[in-house]
Parts: sequence; structure tokens; C-alpha cells
Amino acid sequence: MDISDSSQTVTLGHGSGGAMMQQLITEQLLPALGGQSAEGLEDAAILDIPAASIAFSTDSFTVQPLFFPGGDIGSLAVHGTVNDVAMRGARPRYLSLGLIIEEGLPLDTLRRIVESIGQAARDCDVIIASGDTKVVGRGAADSIFINTAGIGECGDHTPSVTAARPGDTVLVNGTLGDHGVAVMIAREDLQISAAVESDTAPLHTLVAAMLEASGEAVHTLRDLTRGGLAAGVNEIASAAGVGITLEAVAIPVRPEVGGACEILGLSPYAVANEGKLVAIVAPEAAEAVLAAMRAHPLGQDACVIGEVSAEPVATVRLHTPIGTTRILELPAGELLPRIC
Ligand code: MG
Repeated sequence: MDISDSSQTVTLGHGSGGAMMQQLITEQLLPALGGQSAEGLEDAAILDIPAASIAFSTDSFTVQPLFFPGGDIGSLAVHGTVNDVAMRGARPRYLSLGLIIEEGLPLDTLRRIVESIGQAARDCDVIIASGDTKVVGRGAADSIFINTAGIGECGDHTPSVTAARPGDTVLVNGTLGDHGVAVMIAREDLQISAAVESDTAPLHTLVAAMLEASGEAVHTLRDLTRGGLAAGVNEIASAAGVGITLEAVAIPVRPEVGGACEILGLSPYAVANEGKLVAIVAPEAAEAVLAAMRAHPLGQDACVIGEVSAEPVATVRLHTPIGTTRILELPAGELLPRIC
């Protein structure tokens, strides 16, 4: 079978462990990912990591549609795990890559996704050190699911969700809700059109610049993925046993994202991002961290959105533009299934 033929699709044979799988891996996957030939592949990679501590994270990606304005499931699978590793102040070094493919996926689609993974990994300066490919029958998965795990080298300072302290300043690096709204609009069942792109991006160099500017003053970092800002700050408030108060007028939301959320009945604060983080920073360092963020391409719209207090414990309050205060709840369930 000639798998360079663009009319071909993935078949169960490609996941068989035999010659077809070898050919798929050697001819399609490894060249895009920067690997060697399948014959040389070992059962496990040996990683050269000089750090005393490593950060380790895993995430699975099921986004639908596979391609959306601003990104695709491949770049998302790299950025998502790179960002989780970066939130602990670690320098991402290695990823693993698991592909679960539904029989019938066009080989051309697989090729585009794997090329996007390879490009994103090169952009992040991470090596895909280990991988696995499985093919399941039609209906047993939807097109393709991807799992990545990532390993990073910890630095001198490791931010933690438990480290937020009363008096700390709350910062974000830019507009909220872009990813979730871009994916929702890309779903053809919604009759909404708006020029919104996903913010999917790797945040590790932004984090490095923030830590460089402030050292241990960055107490907490959280990437604002599923559940968005609302989930991120509630998780921090609970983990650290503090209160967090946010100023709605200070929280940046693009008008087109806010408009789409209104139509969909969603809060932009509860919608997923893939290139946004919240930082909880000691107040005396907030200015320096904000300046470092704004000097980075992924932090140009960075701003202060609130502060941490001792009370009420494990609670997030939102000051609204009309002068009232309400509780910003942890989103109850999955608002937007298969958003990442
Ligand atoms: Mg995360």
C-alpha cells in the first residue's frame, strides 16, 4: 500500500504492530517529529536531565474540530503540556506522545496534525522522546485523541497553588476566553460568526522572564485552561486557604469574545484559554513582574486584576462594574465539552 497517496486512510493494520505500522511510523510520523528510524527505536528513552528535581505532567486532547482558527489538536497537545510544566517554574525538555486514531482518519489529516506537533515541539525547544500509536475501529474513538506527558527541569524557585498569601497581587497575561470561543465558533452547529482565534501558545519563555524579574516573589502560576479564570482562581483560593477579590473592569475580554459568550449564555471567565496564565505575586514585586510580562510578546496585555486577602477563606469575590460584589463560583460542570 502506498501511504503517500493522499486518498488513503488509517486502517486497523496501521496499529497492528507489524509492517504497516512500521511504515506509518518511519515514513509519516518520525520525519515530522524529528526522530530516527523505527528500527532504532528502543523500548524506553533515556533522558539526560541534570536538574535535582523534575516537573512531570500529562494531559489528553480530544478537541473537536481538529483544526480551528489559531491552532489544531497537534499544537494544542504540545502547548498544553509545555504550559503545565512551565507553571511549576520548570524548563520543559521532553514530551511523550500517544496517538489514539479512529480507523478511517485520512492519512493526510494525520500528516497535518503530526507536522503541527513537530513544529510546535521545535518552537518550544522540547524533544519528543517517546511515542505510541494505536488504531481503534470506527466509532471506538472520534477521529484522533492525543496524550502528551512532559518533563521539565525545575529551577531555583517552584511556584505552587498553595503559596498564595494575603496581600499578594493577581495578574493575568492577556485577554480571556479566546480559545473556547474560537473552538465553539469553529463548530458548524453554531450559527455564530466572529473573527476569534485561539490563543494557544507555549508560556514557558514568558514564565522564565517573570521568574527572572522577580525570583521567589512569583508565589503561584496557573494556566487558565478548562474552567478558565473562574476555575483557576478558585483552585488557588482553596489550595492556599485564602480569599481572592477580582475587579471585573480590569479583566481583559475581547468585545467579540464577550459578545459570543453572551449569545451562548457563557461567562468569559469560565471559558478555556490555552495561552493564558494567572500569577499570584508578592505586592512589592508586582510592578517588576508586570513590566517583564508586558515586554514579552505573550504578555503585552498583561494587567493586575485583583488581590489576595486572608478572608473569606477559599472564596473568590468579583467586584462588578456597577459597584456590587458577587461570588465567582468554580464552574459546576463541563460547560464546553471537548474544548481541549
Ligand atoms: Mg494546568
